[in-house]
Amino acid sequence: MRGAVLLGDRKVEIREFPDPEPGTNQVVVRMKASGLCGSELHALYQVESELRRGTRTWGYIGGHEPAGVVEKIGPGVEGLKEGDRVVIYHIQGCGYCKYCRSGWMLHCPNAKRSYGWDINGGHADFILVNKENCVPLPEELSFADGACCACCTGTAYQALRRIGVSGRDRFVAFGLGPVGLSGVMLAKAMGAEVIGVDPIAERRELAKRLGASIVLDPTQVDVVATVRELTDQEGAEAAADFSGNPQARNQALDCVRIWGRVAFVGEGNLTTINPSPQMLHKQLTVVGSWVFGLWELKELLDFLVRHKLHPDQMVTHRFPLEEISKAFQVFDEGRTGKVMIEWQ
Ligand SMILES: [Zn+2]
Ligand SMILES: [Zn+2]
Repeated sequence: MRGAVLLGDRKVEIREFPDPEPGTNQVVVRMKASGLCGSELHALYQVESELRRGTRTWGYIGGHEPAGVVEKIGPGVEGLKEGDRVVIYHIQGCGYCKYCRSGWMLHCPNAKRSYGWDINGGHADFILVNKENCVPLPEELSFADGACCACCTGTAYQALRRIGVSGRDRFVAFGLGPVGLSGVMLAKAMGAEVIGVDPIAERRELAKRLGASIVLDPTQVDVVATVRELTDQEGAEAAADFSGNPQARNQALDCVRIWGRVAFVGEGNLTTINPSPQMLHKQLTVVGSWVFGLWELKELLDFLVRHKLHPDQMVTHRFPLEEISKAFQVFDEGRTGKVMIEWQ
């Protein structure tokens, strides 16, 4: 089979690998859709190869947003059969610690490994996965829908669930890349009125299509003042920063009202805040939210079906595996929605 390895220095190489065979409790999935994620763009594609060489994430097939069809079943696998449509939860663990037992392999201290990072991922014709990582993909959803949920839409879902977004809220989303766009779509479905904030016009347009009633360019308007004007000077009920930008993080804290709720989702960057006026005196609930648990992936897929939502609406570019270098180049330019590798 073919598999794409991210080499750093903005290089991707397609190599030949043996077709995987499933061992006990393992499944081989024929790939149908594999999303490109901002995290692999930064950490595996843009990074200098010298920084990566010899690290545990060196040399594996990339791609941690896989969806496809079960091709082969190993001994001991029950409840899955050849031909089943599945999304892959992209983190595996020891299976025995309290985190693995509760579907939070993300926090497994013993044997955590992630597909596309330190085991072979989805940018390949086939992926070998543990049976418990396969989550059934409902017929109503496309493979690209499923691939979005495997990382970015799932990450947005946890954040919104943690701050309890509902129809009582004006919700402000800072950063309208694929995670933020997912946040816009989900918050709208949860009943909130959504304000989207991003300096890139293409992304603001996508946010409008996905349900934002107002979009703001932070380079042109005072975001906090505008949100206050829109909310009788009190501020929004809830906000999330999906950008990791220090200014956006501060604005997320400052644009919500007393008793407001804020989720920090975007990664990286040191940020200076003043907790007394920005958080304490406003009685804020501020949560850090990182990826999501296995059970939440199942819950999210059901939510999408019930609300007739399709995260593949934010896919702006689709490529076959042989054009993955071009896919990363386009994604690297930073003006896209979701970029997806697809198989016929
Ligand atoms: Zn990701
Ligand atoms: Zn574990």
